[in-house]
Amino acid sequence: MNCWTKAQMKQILPVCCFCDKAQDDTRSEAGKGLWQDLQIYMVSRKLRPEDITFAYTCCRDCLKDDPRANAFRTRLSRSGSPVLDNR
Ligand SMILES: [Zn+2]
Repeated sequence: MNCWTKAQMKQILPVCCFCDKAQDDTRSEAGKGLWQDLQIYMVSRKLRPEDITFAYTCCRDCLKDDPRANAFRTRLSRSGSPVLDNR
């Protein structure tokens, strides 16, 4: 497998930067998956950190309850997406 193929296989995984939960979008529409513990998500899919590009975002619970998520709420109301775009 060459580097190009490897890069193509990288999965973008939304991770909550407050509670470290990952969003499992594999069995549902993008943005609507269940949030689950990042470690459990990785282990159950045999993923290694190098297989994944983390997209830091905020899960539904933190968006609702965590005061630190204020920046995300502002972003969500402006752009419709809580995902931090760091490109
Ligand atoms: Zn969270």
